[in-house]
Amino acid sequence: MSTIKERYDVLVVGGGIAGMQAALDLGEQGHKVLLVERQPSIGGVMVGLNKVFPTLDCSSCICTPRMAETRSHPNVQVETWTELTKIDRKGPGFSAMLLRKPRYVDSDACVGCGGCELACPIEVPHEFDYGLGARKAIYIEHANAIPQVPVLDTANCTFCGKCARVCPKDCVDYLQEAQQARVEVGSVVLTTGLNITPMDAKKEYHGDEFANVVNPLAMERIQSSDGPYGTVIRPSDGKIPRKIAYIQCAGSRDKSIGITYCSRVCCMYALKQAVLMRHYVHDLDVTLFHMDIRAFGKGYEQFYRRALAEGVKVVKGKVAKISQAENKDVILRVERLEEGRVVEERFDMVVLSQGLVPGWHAAGVVDVDEADDGFFAAPQAKLQPCATTIPGVFAGGVAAGPKDIPDAIVEAGDAAMAAANWLQKNNWCDATDEVTAK
Ligand SMILES: Cc1cc2nc3c(=O)[nH]c(=O)nc-3n(C[C@H](O)[C@H](O)[C@H](O)COP(=O)(O)OP(=O)(O)OC[C@H]3O[C@@H](n4cnc5c(N)ncnc54)[C@H](O)[C@@H]3O)c2cc1C
Repeated sequence: MSTIKERYDVLVVGGGIAGMQAALDLGEQGHKVLLVERQPSIGGVMVGLNKVFPTLDCSSCICTPRMAETRSHPNVQVETWTELTKIDRKGPGFSAMLLRKPRYVDSDACVGCGGCELACPIEVPHEFDYGLGARKAIYIEHANAIPQVPVLDTANCTFCGKCARVCPKDCVDYLQEAQQARVEVGSVVLTTGLNITPMDAKKEYHGDEFANVVNPLAMERIQSSDGPYGTVIRPSDGKIPRKIAYIQCAGSRDKSIGITYCSRVCCMYALKQAVLMRHYVHDLDVTLFHMDIRAFGKGYEQFYRRALAEGVKVVKGKVAKISQAENKDVILRVERLEEGRVVEERFDMVVLSQGLVPGWHAAGVVDVDEADDGFFAAPQAKLQPCATTIPGVFAGGVAAGPKDIPDAIVEAGDAAMAAANWLQKNNWCDATDEVTAK
């Protein structure tokens, strides 16, 4: 197991695309970076997406090399399955407490052969596939996980010993314990990312009850070739869907659920999924019900036009109610605003285009303020958007507010630069060991 040292230049919290970018930018400048990620693998949301708008690049194909580069950078130490428990100011820098959770596997000896996973007789719903697929009680998070080291889920393990018996390197260690570590760092970059609004945020949509009403991240997995089904079928009965609806702003711009802001990416991910869906299922009927389409980024308006030209239907309409037929089809009661009438329509599947909410709240860990929307407050929103209310602590990516991947990368680069400037201003590096240029 790697040793967590006592001192680093910068602590980056969260190993999604933003955190990896910040860590790499700082590492390239010669700064020593500790990147902590609470999941078993780095990669964040992006590594689970199918393809990305507007280019339709395979998401994991462009994310995985970035994950490998981060893990192997000589100035970046990646600690996965590790939680941040406390940050306090100490001199010009900070003292941080970390909790390394036990994997119950010796990560130094493990060769990632997956034998333990094959031998395990337990199957439980897989979080990475939003419960649609299954994983074992000992499992590597997904095919592209970095590191390729399993985690044993003690809540579901029966301790039958089969994994330990097949392991060629004798890695399974049922007695492994959590470890605490204290580190001193000159600056902190928070890249703790996103969650989507809960499925049950709007009761009328029954998102948590109806099998064929799915969240957009689950739809990314359904569309992925390495997803839970390996092909596009609906969850209730494995039928190929012929008619699908997207409900836009299902978790944003809605006073009734307390989320009044626009999440910026939902129009584009819905258009992307709709276009792809028509590639996967010939003659699929797909409709987006929306308030207005926001295609704000480079090439996005052109992608919207492409979606229309390829037969995606975009209807200004308010969905008032969702119900379920006996065969688990989904019935929408929609006010079609341009036609001025209310209709009931039946669909094989419905996707709730849920908005983005903060992936993590700092309360009790670090005294950084949140804005009214729950994302980290930016007291200098115009001139230094990555600055937080604590000098020396910076935020980037969706942790600082909803955004797409390119904007998350740009903002993470800004946070890295601000952290480097902070170190310089406080003569942090003079007091640290030699920096290693790559
Ligand atoms: C359905 C959907 C489809 C999308 N499709 C696209 C697309 O096609 N193109 C596009 O540009 N954008 C798309 N996006 C937006 C894109 O997902 C985000 O812009 C991007 O993932 C943001 O990256 P991030 O690093 O800021 O956050 P995340 O990807 O959420 O990464 C944050 C990481 O921090 C970790 N973390 C959180 N708290 C802690 C903690 N306390 N300690 C340690 N680790 C922690 C998390 O586990 C996670 O790994 C889509 C979003 C959704 C919901």
